[in-house]
Amino acid sequence: MKDCNQCGKCCQIYGDGGLSATPAEIRYWQDNRPEIARFVQAGRIWIDPETGDALTACPWLKQLPNQKKYGCSIYADRPDDCRQYPVLVSDMIRDGCEMIEPIDLRRPKVAQSKLDQLMIDSRAVHR
Ligand code: SF4
Ligand code: SF4
Repeated sequence: MKDCNQCGKCCQIYGDGGLSATPAEIRYWQDNRPEIARFVQAGRIWIDPETGDALTACPWLKQLPNQKKYGCSIYADRPDDCRQYPVLVSDMIRDGCEMIEPIDLRRPKVAQSKLDQLMIDSRAVHR
C-alpha cells in the first residue's frame, strides 16, 4: 500500500454528483465558507450556483501547475465523504486507485489493515 500520489482519480469519479454533505457541514460552510455554500442547493453538492444544475466535475479539484497531480482547493473544509475515501481496498481496486500495489491484490486483508492505519487521521470526525 503506497501513499496517495494525488492522481485525482477518486475526485474525478465521485466529484460529479456522487458526493453528499451532512447538514452540519452545510451549516459550517454557510457560516464560515460562503463561497463553498454557493455550490450547495437543497442539501445537494455540487450544484452550479448560476443554473441550479448538478456539476459534472468537482469545482474544487485543481491540477497542480506543470504536473499530473491534483489537489483539493478546499482541503481543510472538504466534505466528510472526501475525508473517508478510500474506505475499502475493493473500492480502490475498482476505482484504479494508485495507492494499490501488486502485493495488495494478493493479500487484500493485510492491505485493508494497512489502509485503515494510513487513514486514521483523515477519517477522524472533525465536525
Ligand atoms: S471536494 Fe476536494 S476532495 Fe472532495 S471531490 Fe472535490 S476536490 Fe476532491
Ligand atoms: S485515486 Fe487513490 S492515489 Fe489517486 S488521488 Fe485518490 S486516493 Fe490518491
